[in-house]
Amino acid sequence: MVLDTATLRIAFALMAMVLGLLFYFSAYRFTRSPYSGWWCLALVFFLTGSAAFLFNGTAHQWWANPLGNVLVVHGGVAVWAGARSLRTVPPRRWLFTAIPLATLFASAVDNPGTNTWAGGAVFLAAMSLTVGLASRELWRLEPGYSRVRIPMAAAAAGLSAFYLGRLVVFLLEGPNGPTFATYFGSAVTTLVTMVLLVVVSFSMAALSSEQQTRALRMVATRDDLTGLLNRKAFFDLAAEHLADPAVTRASGALILADLDHFKAVNDTYGHAAGDLALQAFAHACQETVRTTDLTGRYGGEEFILLIPGSTADRAESIADAISRRLAAAGGPDEPRMPTVSYGIATYDAGTPGLDALIASADAALYAAKSQGRNRTARSDTAH
Ligand code: GH3
Ligand code: MG
Ligand code: MG
Repeated sequence: MVLDTATLRIAFALMAMVLGLLFYFSAYRFTRSPYSGWWCLALVFFLTGSAAFLFNGTAHQWWANPLGNVLVVHGGVAVWAGARSLRTVPPRRWLFTAIPLATLFASAVDNPGTNTWAGGAVFLAAMSLTVGLASRELWRLEPGYSRVRIPMAAAAAGLSAFYLGRLVVFLLEGPNGPTFATYFGSAVTTLVTMVLLVVVSFSMAALSSEQQTRALRMVATRDDLTGLLNRKAFFDLAAEHLADPAVTRASGALILADLDHFKAVNDTYGHAAGDLALQAFAHACQETVRTTDLTGRYGGEEFILLIPGSTADRAESIADAISRRLAAAGGPDEPRMPTVSYGIATYDAGTPGLDALIASADAALYAAKSQGRNRTARSDTAH
């Protein structure tokens, strides 16, 4: 059976168009997830790129062929950018431009009017690279990300390897060699891409709604002024941490922080300046602690930190570091940042629970306030 390339390309283009419309109306418009957005874009590139290749063999081949290469490579870049958006890292703009530009240049100088494989080696390398990078992004997602992470990464890795195989054979024997024509020619490629597109589309809905759920969860757990955990999220995570059988025998520290005479900051400089000071404090906390520590807004101008594995000494030096950062945040033209009082309590296997831990830290904070503020006090409850 001979599969003719033109028919396959039309079938592919139709499929890409239908999938693109489905993605747009069912996934992107509904979820607005960056991932589905990138996929809609990728499908548009694949679709228009395939359409451009239909001009091969006509008088328009000289411009349509390089254009087709560039469009399809843009599709590969969009697939990669989409995978990257799942880790919420932005696309690398220079690569987004550099890879298609290299393809365009290689195709344009390789007699595209007569050579249907103009710039073939660069085109194949660009496809292998972009789809391979997409696969790497999917592998690098945390293991619990989605049940479709592995099939997607494997599909992308397979496609990348296929393009690499094409590149090697293309370089060894050229586009008219027997191996290339039989196993790596345009007809087989279109077929393989079609099948993979179905795999990817199937997993697509799952991934984009997961991305949206994560974004919503992020909003629901954050304090909108400071970006720290809100009170409820902090309580949930801290209680979960303390109840975790792997850490019940471990120890750590809890810090309660309260900005000193904060009411005076509001009264003197206005509420907006007070908000800025709260944000500066939150920033100082985030700069100081590790990402595995929990930092939350306890309420008003009070903050709470859980530092697993920390001793009271270490917690005290963390508090000092936060205060130093906060003091440095006030510039010469800005109002001076308020000082901060801290109460520290430590926990270990004998600590009854989060409420008791917070009560100890609160008692220590009260002591720090009554001893004159701008200082750290430790809970005398020995745990
Ligand atoms: P102390 O040193 O004893 O802690 O004195 P204080 O003035 O910091 O404490 P107090 O509890 O009397 O005042 C807290 C102030 O924090 C009162 C409230 O208006 C202000 N505040 C609470 N939440 C916010 C907020 O989101 N933005 C601003 N700008 N101020 C806030
Ligand atoms: Mg207070
Ligand atoms: Mg206060």
